Amino acid sequence: MKSYDIAIVGAGMAGATLALALNRLCQTPLNIAVIEAYQNHDDKRHPGFDSRAIALSFGTANILKKLNLWQQFLPFVTSITDIEISDRSHLGLADITAQHEQVSALGYVVELDNVGRIYQQALKASPNVDYFCPAKVNHIERTLEQVHIDLSDGTQIESRLLVAADGALSESCQQLNIPLKEIDFEQVAVIANVSTQILPQGRAFERFTQFGPVAFLPMSEGRSSVVWCMPQQRADSMMAADQQTVIEALQHDFGWRLGRITKVGKMACYPLLLRYRENTVSHRFVAVGNAAQTLHPIAGQGFNLGIRDVLSLAEEIALTQQTLGDVGDYSMLSRYRQRRQQDRQYTMSLTSSLVHCFSNELPAMRVGRNVGLLAIQYLPYLKQPIVKRTMGLVER
Ligand SMILES: Cc1cc2nc3c(=O)[nH]c(=O)nc-3n(C[C@H](O)[C@H](O)[C@H](O)COP(=O)(O)OP(=O)(O)OC[C@H]3O[C@@H](n4cnc5c(N)ncnc54)[C@H](O)[C@@H]3O)c2cc1C
Repeated sequence: MKSYDIAIVGAGMAGATLALALNRLCQTPLNIAVIEAYQNHDDKRHPGFDSRAIALSFGTANILKKLNLWQQFLPFVTSITDIEISDRSHLGLADITAQHEQVSALGYVVELDNVGRIYQQALKASPNVDYFCPAKVNHIERTLEQVHIDLSDGTQIESRLLVAADGALSESCQQLNIPLKEIDFEQVAVIANVSTQILPQGRAFERFTQFGPVAFLPMSEGRSSVVWCMPQQRADSMMAADQQTVIEALQHDFGWRLGRITKVGKMACYPLLLRYRENTVSHRFVAVGNAAQTLHPIAGQGFNLGIRDVLSLAEEIALTQQTLGDVGDYSMLSRYRQRRQQDRQYTMSLTSSLVHCFSNELPAMRVGRNVGLLAIQYLPYLKQPIVKRTMGLVER
């Protein structure tokens, strides 16, 4: 049986970032096992690194800089310089600009398949990381001092700490009976890369419509990455429709800010639920990223919250390595839980409130949110906290 300091299950955005963050922050390299079920990072169906593009906030970019990873992201990112938030067919409109915030970009869009490649190379080049792939966790047993893990490829390992970074339905959490709560938004997100007559040139849009929010993020080759939220039934008919019908429906929902929509690329569908675990730590165990909470993508907060989990955990582990030595000690987990409580709760409830508020077509709600958007635009004391959170400038 091979012994490790840390075993990380899942090498998606959260798990892979954690392994690399530990390499950067720990004074003496820890022995790390990374266990990933899905082998081919070039496959667009990879659950962690599929064809999606996601927005990394200004704060996330700063974390990646601190971890010496940003340099590798740079060739693949598109800057976001403007974010416009509006309610379809109504007056309310709020605008956040990099110029006003005196930064070169509010955030960046990155295509996940590029990140998958960067991360896989970095993990394979780390001599202290053993990368078990493809492999799953068959059985977990905890003793006072260790976690014993049986892998699906027959390998047996033991570790001081087990980190679940295996996504929303986390089998590791299930095996340890860590309860999962779910709120179904009764919507799905249709995603696609879209070409438009006017190039986005750094402009991102979040627009609320009667069916749900639609977001356009500027991406490579002058395209926009679109997250288009709607009820399942409408998504089914969009997925079955021809290109022209899809373009017309999207143009109707999004409007003409980027001129005519000329092409909609391959579409994919994601169910939208808030999934979260109230308790993310237990004896020699912690869940991070989507395994801890999976958010609605409405405000692009999922990984931006997940990376704050990851950095706080890596910092606590690095500190414990220097003091107690046992990186799975419960006092470390307890400090980590306390540090993350407020940000997690606030971001989860903010995202859910946005979905409820902006999916409601009751006249009072419509008036309320339009007044709200105008107030955000014109009252700096209301706008500033929202701008800070959008930019990921959040206390950890
Ligand atoms: C449509 C959409 C748009 C989004 N847009 C944004 C955005 O703009 N900004 C943002 O910050 N976030 C966004 N998100 C959220 C973001 O994509 C996720 O928060 C992030 O990718 C989650 O990473 P993760 O590593 O926690 O989980 P996952 O990506 O689910 O990775 C889990 C990994 O674990 C592996 N795995 C699963 N089970 C096992 C097992 N039993 N054993 C071993 N390995 C296993 C999987 O193969 C995978 O590699 C969006 C999400 C969606 C759906």
